[in-house]
Amino acid sequence: MDKPVVSRERTLHIKSKLATFQVEGILFFDMKNIRYLTGFTGSDGILFIGDKNNVLLVDGRYVTQAKKEVTNCDIFHYTDKIEGLVAFISDCGIKTVGFESPAITSDKYFDLRDRLEDVTLVPLSTDINSIRAVKDGEEVEYIRKAADIASQALMFIMGEIKPGVREREIALSLESKMRDLGGEAPSFETIVASGHNSAMPHAKPGFRQIEDGDFVVIDYGVVYKGYRSDETSTIVVGSVTLKQQEIYNIVKDAHDRALDAVKDGVSCREIDRIARDWIEKAGMGQYFSHGTGHGVGLDVHETPTISAKSNDYLETGMVITVEPGIYIPDLWGVRIEDMVIVGNNGFEILSNVPKELMVL
Ligand code: ZN
Ligand code: ZN
Repeated sequence: MDKPVVSRERTLHIKSKLATFQVEGILFFDMKNIRYLTGFTGSDGILFIGDKNNVLLVDGRYVTQAKKEVTNCDIFHYTDKIEGLVAFISDCGIKTVGFESPAITSDKYFDLRDRLEDVTLVPLSTDINSIRAVKDGEEVEYIRKAADIASQALMFIMGEIKPGVREREIALSLESKMRDLGGEAPSFETIVASGHNSAMPHAKPGFRQIEDGDFVVIDYGVVYKGYRSDETSTIVVGSVTLKQQEIYNIVKDAHDRALDAVKDGVSCREIDRIARDWIEKAGMGQYFSHGTGHGVGLDVHETPTISAKSNDYLETGMVITVEPGIYIPDLWGVRIEDMVIVGNNGFEILSNVPKELMVL
């Protein structure tokens, strides 16, 4: 396998922030951020980025892998994680170090603080979370491929969605097709929610058999080279009622309107407001119980957050979802989700399944 070449820009970007954060270096504990900054795909380790050096700290299981995968760091081998880290920081002679506070338990933090008496540990949260928000060309290529695989797989198994088939059978078939087409794993536990189950935004696929007249909400995605896709189609099996068509249209219009507003510089709150206003105007506001979208990348949910409380702004190169929904308890629900890349003057849709109401 070729060594993944991680753009130098990514670590330089972190180094450029050290002065702002008033630290001599930053410790990363989140494995997705570590992968992003180094190319290391192992499941345990710590990354230090300082002014003069980048060091990846790993235990014996990962030394060979790290040497193979990582070109932009020295590799430091530890036996005990905390002891290794303490030894490393003490050796560096650093007095102030930032750390990724959302990615470490309070137990570990207190342990570190006690053992590094002479070092000031500076928690860094929001700014660190946003480092992966804007994607570079290689990342977009992987996300696009993931979206292609997922959409293709759904189109391929669409014929299997019919009365008598169980939700979990559809989920399994879809996941298996996504792997067939080159996906590494599902992005998250695939949601196939039919009939009254579709009224639960995060229903687990169960043994319920599809019935004529059901809405079926399918929320799914796949991982390709570590990058995820995320898309939701709501379809109808058999015949569609006027009420179903009406609610579907409200969600679709909310989705289209919010999407149309997507471009560089727009606040994420505004995108959420457009979708929410539309659904509220239709008298369905109480049934739209989640945010309008989120960033997607190495994680299925990452910065930015598209909700009524978000402080994020869209930037060119961000990959986000737009996914309004209406869920009427004990009846059914509809969600329509597309994944798009933000551009200077608009957006490009990465998910490929058409979102007009499909009656199977
Ligand atoms: Zn989704
Ligand atoms: Zn989503």
